Amino acid sequence: MLVIGGGVMGLWAAVEAARAGADVLLVDAGRIGQGASNGLVGALMPHMPDKWNQKKQFQFDALVSLEHEVAALEAETGISAGYRRSGRLVPLPRPHLRAIALRHSADAERVWQAEGRRFHWHVLDRPPVEGWVNAGAGAHGFVFDTLAARAAPRRVTALLAGWLERSARVRILENSRVEQLDPAGTARLAGGPTVRFGHAVVAAGYDAFAMFEAVSAPLEKPLGQAVKGQSALLRADVDPAFPAIFLDGLYVISHENGHVAIGSTSENAFSDPFACDGLLEPLIARAVQMVPALEGAPVVECWAGLRPKAIGRDPMVGPHPDHPRIIAMAGGFKVSFGIAHLLAKAALAALQGKAPAVPESFLAASHIALAQSR
Ligand SMILES: Cc1cc2nc3c(=O)[nH]c(=O)nc-3n(C[C@H](O)[C@H](O)[C@H](O)COP(=O)(O)OP(=O)(O)OC[C@H]3O[C@@H](n4cnc5c(N)ncnc54)[C@H](O)[C@@H]3O)c2cc1C
Repeated sequence: MLVIGGGVMGLWAAVEAARAGADVLLVDAGRIGQGASNGLVGALMPHMPDKWNQKKQFQFDALVSLEHEVAALEAETGISAGYRRSGRLVPLPRPHLRAIALRHSADAERVWQAEGRRFHWHVLDRPPVEGWVNAGAGAHGFVFDTLAARAAPRRVTALLAGWLERSARVRILENSRVEQLDPAGTARLAGGPTVRFGHAVVAAGYDAFAMFEAVSAPLEKPLGQAVKGQSALLRADVDPAFPAIFLDGLYVISHENGHVAIGSTSENAFSDPFACDGLLEPLIARAVQMVPALEGAPVVECWAGLRPKAIGRDPMVGPHPDHPRIIAMAGGFKVSFGIAHLLAKAALAALQGKAPAVPESFLAASHIALAQSR
């Protein structure tokens, strides 16, 4: 099997394919893990527990199972992913938000249950820990959700790549761009060589959209787009067990080794996709206001990248409707790290002729239908 792209999506696809007994060739245009997956934030966040549907259930199952999946790979490789289910705090600055949060709390008691475990959407008057979020940020309390987790994105890709390097079934080819994909079973690489494949998983980040478009009948709209995000890593002497903080698009995440990640901007228009600019400063300023312990903390790194956002926002997974040997695994947008392992299992069901067990809106066929409509 050919896997195109070695970001978090392609790496999980390669792991699952090798586990299923396939021989895997993983090719990347650059270095493994150096695309959007090379970021700093690593939030693994659930949807709201209200209006429960298939999509929310899929993400819930993924967030619950990721903990064991990561632990198993860590045990096999000795590499840490910097994973911790440290939960999430959401300040409630206005009174109506507390009323909504109390409803969500009851919803979570009903639906956030799996594998004999329960997760909660607590509504608190004060932050559950001292020395972290500014208590004044939650004039009407705080939500503390116990399902959310975090992992260090670069550690996750190092863990997956480390596992693949130990597998006799997997060959990794870096600095090899796939320039053309022939649905009959060949891929042409930059410089001319071709590789033959039984199945090809297209996990090329935002490039996956163009690759899928190239093998589709003409479409009215693009299958997806690249959305720029900027983030920062600060060094601060805070407890790595502190919960992630989220408010109005701002994430503050305490990682291991005294690192705190701040994310992220969301930009549809940009001149330099990989440069940090003035848009990051206000985000850092908001984070410092939210977490007084970050005052004066040095910025260790600023990082920008391009998230793959598929048409209709949902991930794009599963076989191409006209070319069943070509399988999509892309478009994770802001949530790839929490769900890629489960998307990989679903995507590879196609190898056994089974339909991927994902919500219908995730299917590549649904994305193509959307892109065909005017
Ligand atoms: C600032 C920022 C913050 C984020 N925060 C979070 C977060 O907190 N939680 C979360 O879950 N997600 C987050 N995301 C989103 C997440 O990083 C992405 O959704 C995810 O990394 C996408 O993974 P991918 O494997 O699809 O793509 P990528 O990681 O981009 O990997 C694609 C790979 O394909 C290769 N490639 C491209 N074209 C070809 C080709 N033609 N041939 C061969 N190889 C090719 C590239 O070189 C690349 O290595 C964030 C993103 C950004 C930018």
